[in-house]
Amino acid sequence: MSENADWRERLSSIEVPISVSSNTLLTTCLDRLIYTGRLSAEDGINLMNEPSLLGISSLANMVKYARFGDNVFYNRNLHVNTTNICVLACRFCAFRKGSKHSDAYEVSTEEFIQRIAPMATHIDEVHSVGGLHPDWKVDHYAEIYSAIKGEFPWIHIKSLTAIEIIHISKRSGISIEQTLRTLRDAGLDSIPGGGAEILVDSVRDRICRGKESSDEYLQVHATAHEIGIRSNCTMLFGTVESISDRIHHLIRIREQQDSSGGFQCFVPYPFLPDHSRLPEAQLATSSEVVRMIAVSRLMLDNIPHIKAYRMNLGDHLSSICLNAGADDIDGTVGHEEIMHDAGSTTRLDTPERGLLRLIESTNSTPVRRNSTYDEFIEVEFDDSSISLPISSG
Ligand code: SF4
Repeated sequence: MSENADWRERLSSIEVPISVSSNTLLTTCLDRLIYTGRLSAEDGINLMNEPSLLGISSLANMVKYARFGDNVFYNRNLHVNTTNICVLACRFCAFRKGSKHSDAYEVSTEEFIQRIAPMATHIDEVHSVGGLHPDWKVDHYAEIYSAIKGEFPWIHIKSLTAIEIIHISKRSGISIEQTLRTLRDAGLDSIPGGGAEILVDSVRDRICRGKESSDEYLQVHATAHEIGIRSNCTMLFGTVESISDRIHHLIRIREQQDSSGGFQCFVPYPFLPDHSRLPEAQLATSSEVVRMIAVSRLMLDNIPHIKAYRMNLGDHLSSICLNAGADDIDGTVGHEEIMHDAGSTTRLDTPERGLLRLIESTNSTPVRRNSTYDEFIEVEFDDSSISLPISSG
């Protein structure tokens, strides 16, 4: 049920759909993946400009199928944000507040535990990120993680973006590695991929000035990987970047994975404009989102999982991405602010069987996974009478 190690060999035996076999670029890319292993940056740019979205999606889905068959993964998780107070003001962000804002909040350790408690027996992961709080140091987060592990030792803690980790290390006067070791010893299990945006510093300067540089983002993940903490990586597209910036981003992630090897999942998602400060953003159409998922699958030959993140894409678009190279749709989530503040209308009350229905509607097999993709349960969905409880977002 985990990844087929011999996926390139399997890829060579999958029947090639006519949308691929009739296209010189796509057959060239297929041959490269089977025989030489890797697409070039030029291939990536050509795929971004290729008119046949159907062909690109079909090729990406062949690769997904070679790696995972018709399995699609999800998990049982809960999102809890620690604070929306942030000392930065990224232009795409609708979540952050100044500390004096009437909607600013801080979640105490006790409140954090209370949020988890009603869900604790139904989830195996807490996903927690937040703003860059002006005062909180490493001890504050260590206290939260220790309390969670004390109450709910089975729950995996996936927490803190790279920029939060850098901020906490500076506030605490210790290195990134010391920060990660302290947090890991307190209960941190893995880190999410947020904060990557586009790993091109001239773009970062326009959309999130003051945030960590591309090198710093990758260095935090490299340090985490070195001490055994696995992580995800993301891409925020549809702001002011070019196609070659997007491909450069994928190449940098791929090179980092060659060297440190701890990325589990890549999560590309488009900029959502509500309540943000980026009027010049190009915005991504649904077709572009599907293309970006597919090109990510084809370029990132060394990262096993590509996620169609429901909280950003909405359930309908996510389900289309499951036939364009994505193999994961994240989880039950329950509560989410960052994407919803920016305009997401994805329902937060979708029960697990709604996820099963969504996955089955794509002719895929739902597989519940743990956070580190090493425990799997194939889940049967047999209630054909329910309506599809998914959002229009
Ligand atoms: S994206 Fe993160 S770092 Fe940037 S303003 Fe929002 S909360 Fe702060």
